[in-house]
Amino acid sequence: MYRNIFDSHAHYDDERFEEDRHELLESLFANGVRGIVNAASSMESCKTSLALAQRYPQVYCAVGVHPDAAPHFTEEDCVVLAKLAKQPKVVAIGEIGLDYYYDDASPRDVQRAVFERQLQLAAELDLPVIIHDREAHQDTMELLHKYRPRGVLHCYSGSAQMAKEVVGLGMYLGFTGVLTFKNAKKAVEAAQSIPLDRLLIETDCPYMAPEPNRGRRCDSGMLVYTGSKLAELKGIDPQQLFDITCQNACDLFQIAL
Ligand SMILES: [Zn+2]
Repeated sequence: MYRNIFDSHAHYDDERFEEDRHELLESLFANGVRGIVNAASSMESCKTSLALAQRYPQVYCAVGVHPDAAPHFTEEDCVVLAKLAKQPKVVAIGEIGLDYYYDDASPRDVQRAVFERQLQLAAELDLPVIIHDREAHQDTMELLHKYRPRGVLHCYSGSAQMAKEVVGLGMYLGFTGVLTFKNAKKAVEAAQSIPLDRLLIETDCPYMAPEPNRGRRCDSGMLVYTGSKLAELKGIDPQQLFDITCQNACDLFQIAL
């Protein structure tokens, strides 16, 4: 059994965990999962994420609004976020960012404005950010250069060259089960190109289950596959990979385990 598995990005408040959430989390903690950051995506899920973090010592959370929900974001929400962010166990602002794949419901200029507002908030609160960037690499990098936040690009999908640029900004990259997919050449090259001290592992569960569980509901136990793949790419053993990525998560989110 591996120890020190740290899931830096999960959504355990998702309805797909409704039936067995408690049993599942308890069994994960008994099987090597040391910590989880539950990322919010809407104002509603900020509250459900915080409730999980308050219930389980191993769960931390991020509060923020995902680009899909950007059109509903108001300045009052920003005040609420600032208040929530001061609660113990809130370790980041997230997930925030840009998603140009689904930009019908959420216009790009609105996404950018809401992303910028939350980058400013993170700076005011001196918190790291968890960034969602889907098919919006250029605009994301432009805003990262402008605001220079501490944080992580989660479910990293950019090139190896962009990965180096992100590392140059002092940020981390989060890798999901996508790394284990047959067509994951780009993610593999990106993971190979950056130093170990900038790597995080994550599930983004219930989505993104790694091989051999692709398509099933994902949970943090499946990080064994993602971590093993990453360890192989880096030429270290899986336990070392889990130790390092756990330490990286604690450094970034200022968690004392
Ligand atoms: Zn997510």
